[in-house]
Parts: sequence; C-alpha cells; structure tokens
Amino acid sequence: MKYRKMGKLDFKVSALGFGLMRLPTRGNFMLGRVKTKETIEMIRSAIDQGVNYFDTAYVYHLGGSEKVLGQALQDGYREKVHIADKLFLTLVRKPEDFDKQLAKQLERLQTDCIDFYLFHGLNRKKFEQVKEMKLLDKMVEAREKGLIKYIGFSFHDTLAVFKEIIDAFDWDMCQIIYNYMDTGMQATTDGLKYAHEKGLATVIMGPLKGGLLADPPEEATEVMKQAKVQRTPVDWALQFLWNLPEVSTIISGMETQEIIDENCSYADKSGVNTLSKDDLVILNQLAEVYKKKILVPCNTCQYCMPCSYGVNIPDNFALLNYFSHEKEGFRRWRVRRRYRKMLASKTDDLDLEKPNGNATFCTECMECIEKCPMEIMIPEELEKVHAILKEKKEISEYY
Ligand code: SF4
Ligand code: SF4
Repeated sequence: MKYRKMGKLDFKVSALGFGLMRLPTRGNFMLGRVKTKETIEMIRSAIDQGVNYFDTAYVYHLGGSEKVLGQALQDGYREKVHIADKLFLTLVRKPEDFDKQLAKQLERLQTDCIDFYLFHGLNRKKFEQVKEMKLLDKMVEAREKGLIKYIGFSFHDTLAVFKEIIDAFDWDMCQIIYNYMDTGMQATTDGLKYAHEKGLATVIMGPLKGGLLADPPEEATEVMKQAKVQRTPVDWALQFLWNLPEVSTIISGMETQEIIDENCSYADKSGVNTLSKDDLVILNQLAEVYKKKILVPCNTCQYCMPCSYGVNIPDNFALLNYFSHEKEGFRRWRVRRRYRKMLASKTDDLDLEKPNGNATFCTECMECIEKCPMEIMIPEELEKVHAILKEKKEISEYY
C-alpha cells in the first residue's frame, strides 16, 4: 500500500480509503441489513492489506455501516485505522442534537474518539444551518473534549460556495466528488487546488462516478486498447486521481473481496506524477467519450431516496445511461428488457418501503429536487427515461 499526506496534518493515510456506503446486504442494497460476518472479513482484509482510512456516516445503511465498522475494529484493529464519520444535519434541529448524534455514533463505532468528523453534504443551505445553529462551535467543543480529532465537511454545491465554506473556518479536511469526467463539476479542479493550497486534506468520493467508469462503452474500450500501458477501466480512473499531488486519499465503495484485492493492487503501484504524457492523452480521450454518452449526470448517491411514491430514481437513470453506452441491437434490447423486468410498472408490484418503481410512478411532487447534489431535474429526466426505454423514442429527440 502507498501512503499519502493528509494536507497540513503530520501523518499519512493509505492512498486507498474504504467507503462504507455500499456494503453487502440482505435485500435492498442501501436499506437492507448489512451482512455482518462478510463485511467484517472484508474490512479486516483491507486493513491487513494496508488500508487505514474508513469513511462512514450516520445514515449509511440506516446506521448499520457505523455498527459493522465498530464490530470489525475490535481485536486490535481500531488502533490501525482512521475513522471518518459524518453528522447528518437533517436530524439536527437544535444544537443539542449535535451531541446526541455524536454520542450515538461513538456508541455504534465502539470507540471514544472519531478521527475525522464531517458535516455531511454541505451546500449553501446546509452551511446556513451550520452558521445559524453555531455548529462549528459544537465541533470545536467536541474536539476539546477529545470526542473527535479533526474537523471537515463533505460537499455538494458550486465552486463559489466551496470557497466560501473553506474561507469560513480553519478546516482540517474536505471531501469532494472528483473523477476524470467530473473535473468541471461541483468543487471542480479549481476547488481541489484551492483546498490543497489552504492546507486542507482533500478526500475524493465518486472516483468511478457511481460505477459508470468501471463499465466502459465500446468506444472507451477501444481508446484504452490504444494505450502503451494496459490497465483496467477502474485502474485508469484511480490512477488519474493518485497522479494528482492535491489528492490525499480516494474513497472507494468496495462491495466484494475481489474489488478490495484489485483496488489494493492498483494502489500499490500508484504515485504522484507517475502517469506519462501518453497516459494523460488517453484519459482525456476517455473523458470525451464518456461525456458524450452520459445523458443524466446521476452518481447514484441515493440522496434523493426514498421517493414517497416508490420510484427508484437512481436505477432509472443508471439504466438510461447504460442504454446510451450500448450499441444498437441486442445490447440495447437487453437494457430495455431490464427496465421492464427490473423495475415495477404496476401498482401491485410496487414496494414503497424499498422503492422499486419505474419512471411512470413519478407524480412530480418535486420533493427530491433539492436533495440532488447534481441538480438534476429529476421528474423531467424520468419522463425521458420512460420515453426512451419503454416507448422506444430516439435519444436524439431528447438530448
Ligand atoms: S418528483 Fe417524482 S421522483 Fe421525485 S420524489 Fe416526487 S414522485 Fe418521487
Ligand atoms: S438523482 Fe441526484 S440525488 Fe438521486 S441518486 Fe442521482 S445524483 Fe444522487
């Protein structure tokens, strides 16, 4: 494993971090119960391979993520890692709720202190809440009490808001969405550099754009074949990030042991400025290919879920993006079939507890809109999903 500097902090963390948002579960992958034994084995295997940065949050797997991490870190593993955990601001209605939530998290994690404590998903509105409730004072107080060590935030908004937040406090770290396709979105490359210059550790989420960069369309595969050094699609995406001096670590949501082993092997050969000019040309070409193919910039973060009317919003968008990646013919037919079979189209098949509905269940209630960090006009895009995947309309009619 390679280790990288955490901004102005005087220690290093593993180049590969473990994101505990998508763990193996029974049933619905975000809401189902975490498979404890399997997950503990995976977490410990990652630690044994040198991973020492673990990212969780109050809401991941409805608290199951923090709990299983706490269990995995028994038997001497806690001392080997840094835990990053996040405050879920929606449940903070008065300043005292901060203390309650943090206490619950420490209990679930079975630890006395969380290494990195973040405001979860800051945007302009949530930062207003932080200021109004004086939650930065609560953070400092928690640090003085030894309940947390370092203060940070994860981020979903524009570059201007990002800079405003950075300038408002002496942060230790920030967590942003960044990958070779999304260099101009949200915090952007400028924001990454800005945070780095200010001494913040920069933790990258969404390195594979919700899995899209791991499953390339044919044109992208052709581009990769032209490279002098052959890499898998995931290796390309991760090396792009590790090549940058501004990146402290990358959080990867690793759902299987195989993925952990592969990603650890990629991290082993990573380093700042290790990519050649030829490699960078390939990455630029890949970004261009993908940009042409992505119809809805959904990163499957699930922040819009659950939809009260049963729509599985990210799955609808994922299918549309996959459809656009595929060639005409059998492969596209197969995606349309998945839309018909995988998502419910009749009320009888709809599960409101674990939303599984197709786009037609959208009532345009607009509840999901402001939850989406990618600012997707969800109801509008859902209409297009159905038109293209069910009514067989041409993509060119809508995009
Ligand atoms: S706008 Fe549509 S998808 Fe969004 S929450 Fe309402 S019904 Fe669900
Ligand atoms: S639609 Fe937006 S909020 Fe929902 S999963 Fe996609 S990016 Fe996340």
